[in-house]
Amino acid sequence: MELETIIGLEIHAQMNSKTKLFCSCDNDSFGKEANTNTCPICMAFPGALPVPNKTAIEKALIAALALNCTLKPHAKFDRKNYFYPDLPSGYQISQFDEPVSEHGHLEIEIDGRKKRVGITRLHVENDAGKLTHTGESTLLDFNRAGTPLMEIVSEPDMSSPEEAVAYAELVQKILRATGSSDCDMEKGMMRFDASVSLRPIGETKLYPRAEIKNLNSFRSLLAAIEYEVRRQKKMWESGEHLQREQTVGWDDERGTTELLRDKESAADYRYFPEPDLPPLIVTETEIEELRKKVPELPHHKKERFLRDYPLQAAEAEFFVNEPALANFYEEVAQNSDAKIASSFVATIFWSQLKERNETLETTPVKAADLAKLIRLVQAGTVSNNTAKSTVLSFMLETGDDPEVIIERENLGQVSDMSAIENICKEVIAANPKIVADVQGGQVKAMGALVGQVMKASQGKANPQIVNGLLEKLLLK
Ligand code: ZN
Ligand code: MN
Repeated sequence: MELETIIGLEIHAQMNSKTKLFCSCDNDSFGKEANTNTCPICMAFPGALPVPNKTAIEKALIAALALNCTLKPHAKFDRKNYFYPDLPSGYQISQFDEPVSEHGHLEIEIDGRKKRVGITRLHVENDAGKLTHTGESTLLDFNRAGTPLMEIVSEPDMSSPEEAVAYAELVQKILRATGSSDCDMEKGMMRFDASVSLRPIGETKLYPRAEIKNLNSFRSLLAAIEYEVRRQKKMWESGEHLQREQTVGWDDERGTTELLRDKESAADYRYFPEPDLPPLIVTETEIEELRKKVPELPHHKKERFLRDYPLQAAEAEFFVNEPALANFYEEVAQNSDAKIASSFVATIFWSQLKERNETLETTPVKAADLAKLIRLVQAGTVSNNTAKSTVLSFMLETGDDPEVIIERENLGQVSDMSAIENICKEVIAANPKIVADVQGGQVKAMGALVGQVMKASQGKANPQIVNGLLEKLLLK
């Protein structure tokens, strides 16, 4: 029996607003002592009332637009009731039938093949606290309780673990580009739930799925789906598939999934409209204003870079992953040669910055000056090697204008024919054996003479001029 794999993803991403979703607690608890970043609202004390965080909701709406979702003019919050020790109120404030947005999509690319993945909805909800199990006991930290989350639900449109990872990676890039979430997975800012089911090829109905909860790296997302596909394949092959939906957990160490519970359905949560919050109304004008805040997205930027600059796909990809450097590159490329600028900026300059533990914010080097340096190389004022090593080092040190540095440090390329000719003559006189070889037909031996002239000129002679002069002196 030939089976096909059907995967859908739910992504929870913490928003990077300054405060939590419904209270004024700091939204950044990193490094804070447990349970010190809380208040009566996020601890759900009786009588405490939630106040929606406008910035967080705006960030979610901008992210939704970037994911090609339609914003709903009328949305509302609902209580999702369940008991869990990390949820002090006994319910999560989420969105049920009127989320802020729906009907989005993304296009992923796998081995050059493009595929569209539908996005059912993006909604806003608050995060729960954090449980830490330590063998005998369980520790509770409510610092995270009330952190604003976006939940992004995909359609079951992915058909391999690799497609699921490609989709998740693209969502991460887009959320980062919109500035709505830092998506730092080491800090649990982005988590995945993957729904996996199989069905015989040719059938159109969906069979019960297993939902793998709380995967917090691309690596475990891939491994968990691969494992789940294998497990279900074996079931199908032995004549029985999943009979009802399951919620499973991924054990990273053992590399297996384990049944947590039969999957709950919407009815189990007894959703009802949150009585303490008014509906969320977004006008057409506000939607247009939000649309203006959607920045150029990584996949669009890559296309534009490949169209506007003479770059390889890998170079464009590199710039997309380093947005600040990409802006810097554009400024250099527009004021010099775009091709030379790419190797200067992406390779030489970038590695120098890293080596010096600097960033584009701390370095004194300005894009305009790097462009000028490239123009000086092209004009023959300074050699390519001297520009990339010595001149650039001085620029990184002082931030001075490259022209000033070349003048001050006497780094200019010598194009004065008579000066170079004199050096050539000295080198010829000192190397009768090599000269005889060259004149005897071993033209390759010329390289040794060029090298000596360059050395004698301390690297400042223009190598093309040296070559021409030696040829003239020896071969004609
Ligand atoms: Zn609070
Ligand atoms: Mn959720």
